[in-house]
Amino acid sequence: MKKLENKVALVTGASKGIGASIAKYFAAEGAKVIVNYASSKTDAEKVVKAITDNGGTAVAVQADVSIQTDVIKLFDEAKNTFGTLDILVNNAGIYNYQPVEEVSAETFNQQFSINVLGSVFAIQSAVKLFGEKGGNIINISSGASNTPLPTGSVYSATKAALDTITIALSKEFAGRNIRINSILPGVVETEGSHSAGFIGSEFEAKLVANTPLGRTGQPEDIAKAAVFLASDDAGWINGEKISVSGGIYGL
Ligand code: NAP
Repeated sequence: MKKLENKVALVTGASKGIGASIAKYFAAEGAKVIVNYASSKTDAEKVVKAITDNGGTAVAVQADVSIQTDVIKLFDEAKNTFGTLDILVNNAGIYNYQPVEEVSAETFNQQFSINVLGSVFAIQSAVKLFGEKGGNIINISSGASNTPLPTGSVYSATKAALDTITIALSKEFAGRNIRINSILPGVVETEGSHSAGFIGSEFEAKLVANTPLGRTGQPEDIAKAAVFLASDDAGWINGEKISVSGGIYGL
């Protein structure tokens, strides 16, 4: 039996990068998947096609997670399409590395609105849809939460906030059969890390030099860990921050 057979999963920010890979790996393990995107409709439809071509089930649904009414519509659509929800992955996120002198109210609020508030909105809607059977939440945090880097003060703070939410909610949800955990990826090669200029940079070379496994991560490295956390194999894991980073150290 596949690890996520008969499960319904919603992955935010699944049109690209880590989220797209999680959606595909979940579907390959039998989950029906809601592929959320903000603006990249064509990319989201490609993810859905890859899943259905492989015999899986998925739909693409637009919603900006930082807008509460969008999130409510997203979960309504999930309910109308699949009737229930078992797994939420809060993956939608942006990273804006900038010196503190350049931080503005706009760049601060944008990162916190999407990375933190968007995850809270999604969790609020998800727990309603989980109902009495419970469910499973995975927050895609970052190694930057534990090991903040220069110019990453605000981004790192968003992920530290998300991890704190993970731990608090693992306790708040006591008795409701809801597990919640954070995954903390190291640098992963994605559309986002390419356009941020990380891939091929001196920064990436430094990170790889400090990574015992000697390479940058790929989206599937994170997706495989997400499948494990979403599955019954991780049934006793709750409120944890799990690094998936090749063992990066010393930064
Ligand atoms: P990416 O390639 O830039 O893709 C980002 C995804 O998030 C896209 O699907 C995008 O959809 C979606 N998104 C952005 N804003 C959104 C919003 N307001 N509402 C809904 N969806 C939104 O990103 P990635 O590198 O895969 O990163 C994914 C997650 O992993 C992020 O939370 C990031 O912080 C975390 N992470 C990444 C790395 C890394 O090195 N890549 C390392 C550690 C942690 P549209 O294209 O439609 O806008």
